[in-house]
This record gives sequence, C-alpha cells and structure tokens, in this order.
Amino acid sequence: MASENNVEISIVVPLLNEVENLPELYDRLHDALSKLKRTYEIIFIDDGSIDNSFCILKEIASVDVNVQIIRFRRNFGQTAAMSAGFDHSQGSVIIPIDADLQNDPNDIEMLLNKIEEGYDIVSGWRANRKDGFVLRRLPSILANRLIVWLTGVKLHDFGCTLKAYRRDVIENIRLYGELHRFIPVLGKLIGAKITEIKVNHYPRTRGQSKYGISRAMRVILDLIMIRFLMSYSTRPIQIFGLMGILSFCAGFVISAYLSVGKLFFPGGKKEGWLSYFFSETSLNERMPMLILSVLLLFTGVQLISIGLIGELVIRTYHESQSKPIYVIREIIKH
Ligand code: UDP
Ligand code: MG
Repeated sequence: MASENNVEISIVVPLLNEVENLPELYDRLHDALSKLKRTYEIIFIDDGSIDNSFCILKEIASVDVNVQIIRFRRNFGQTAAMSAGFDHSQGSVIIPIDADLQNDPNDIEMLLNKIEEGYDIVSGWRANRKDGFVLRRLPSILANRLIVWLTGVKLHDFGCTLKAYRRDVIENIRLYGELHRFIPVLGKLIGAKITEIKVNHYPRTRGQSKYGISRAMRVILDLIMIRFLMSYSTRPIQIFGLMGILSFCAGFVISAYLSVGKLFFPGGKKEGWLSYFFSETSLNERMPMLILSVLLLFTGVQLISIGLIGELVIRTYHESQSKPIYVIREIIKH
C-alpha cells in the first residue's frame, strides 16, 4: 500500500477558528495513529482563522515531524481546505476529519480495515449524530434521502467529513464550491467501489459551528449540478437538443395549424371534413395559441443552441487539460 515516500496514511484536517479544540485533537490523533504502527502524516489546513489556531499548530508542528500546516491567506471554505490537503498529501489512503472533536480519531482504524478489504471509498455514517434535530439532523436526513434518490449512491450520511479514500480516487476528482459532501458521488462517476460504516459522533463542546440552515439550499443547488454531471456532462446536445426539438416541433405544429386556418379557412369556411378543425374562432381566442407557438419555437432554437455551446465547452474542458472521457483502473500488457 505504501506510496513513493512511504507515507501510508494522510490525515487531512480543515479548520477555521478551532483554537480550543486543537491541542486535544492533536493528542487524540497522535494516540490513535501511533497505535496503528503505520507511517502517517497529519496535514492541518488553517482556512483563514482569526484566532490563535495557527500559533498552536506551529507549536505542534515544531515537535512532530509528521505534522504539516497549510495556511490560507483568507477563509476559502471547507471544500477548498480539504482540497488543498488532498493536493499536498502523499499517503496511499487519505482520511479527512473535522477539527472540532465531533469525529473520533479511533474510528480511523475501522475505516482503514475496510479500505484493505478492497473498497475505494469508505464513508463514515454518524448513526448516532449528536447535533440539534430541527436545524441539523432533519435537513440532513431529507438531503441524504434526496441525494440517494437522485444519484443512486446508497449512503446514509454524505455530510460526515470522516471518510477514507484511496489515493487514485482523490487524484481523479476535482472539487469546486462546496462539493466535498459529494465526493462519493463523484467517486461513483469514475467507478469507485463504495461502502459505509457507522462511526462515533460527539456534540461540539468548544468553539462555534460554522454553518447555519442556509447550507440546505446550497446542497440542493450542488445536487442539481451533480445530477446533471452524472447524466449528460459529456453529451449536452443530447439533453438540450432533445428538449429543444420537442419544443420546436410543438411550436411548429401550432403555428402550422394557425396558418392553415388563416389561409384556407378564412372566417371558419365550411368546406370538406378538414373544416371541422377550423371552425370560426375569434382573433382573441387565437391569440394565446399564437403567443404559445412563438414561445415554443424560440425556446426550441435557444435550447438547441445551448446544447451546441455545451458541446464546445465540453471539448474545451477535456482537451485543455488533456483529460480523457474515461478512467482506467489498470492496463495489463506483455
Ligand atoms: N471549516 C473550515 N472552513 C470553513 C468552515 C468550516 O475549515 O469555512 C472546518 C471547521 O473548522 C471544522 C469542519 O470544517 O473542522 C466542520 O465544520 P463545523 O464543525 O462547523 O460543521 P458542522 O459539524 O457543524 O457540520
Ligand atoms: Mg462540527
């Protein structure tokens, strides 16, 4: 399992103003990791703290060679902090953990054992979550159900930071916005083998939580984006084009109907069986149909154009980074 420089486990700790928690967190991480008898590193990412967190971290790093600190210039958010930790990590297994002591460092061992069984992602599930019900657990339960339903990734707790990832999964994932909660979904997109285990959870006893209920809305928006990525990110013309063609055809049928009525059955002329469909209707009654048909025609053209622009964007995305549209597990040659 060891990578080049022989670091087996990278612990990634994003933190913002957690000065009261850091000494105990470090002690507990140190104890839990020493017991494992493996090589490890702990990467603390100071996400723009304005308390004394950085000084405490420097003291810790000065006595422990396994500790690294990354200090941001300002607060960039938990996703960015985790991402920086991943980018600077060297371990073959990467395990992020919250700095507020809500997660239990002793659970790391269980996560590792599961990874060794052959999983690429082992997700922590705070089965006994110790946070308020109305503002925390309830929105979280609903969000988790929605994510399972829309993505097909069957986990109970996407929001738990404590998860273990095999290095190559993380290397193939780019995080934006607040996407750290969706790493298992992004993992599934590249074919990762995913499981979950129950982990401990404790109430926050020191420091402030950094999130309010507005997080729910942001999760929903990210979910819409992820759902889109999952189904059509490599072929936008297929979804926008299809909707565009349907809209255009509907608009065309209605406008054809109105034109035929106007040209061949003026004033509701009664001649032949077709006239049945073109009975006299006043201009007022035709007006809404006319507006609808114009709207549908325009929308159709717009959607097809968006699909075509999407195709250009996708090509730029893949070609500018030489990013293939597939992910290889291994290649075997003679
Ligand atoms: N955090 C961070 N940057 C932020 C917000 C939070 O690094 O902008 C860290 C925070 O210090 C903690 C972890 O992310 O270590 C989880 O945050 P928090 O405990 O506030 O979230 P909750 O447990 O309330 O969901
Ligand atoms: Mg917390």
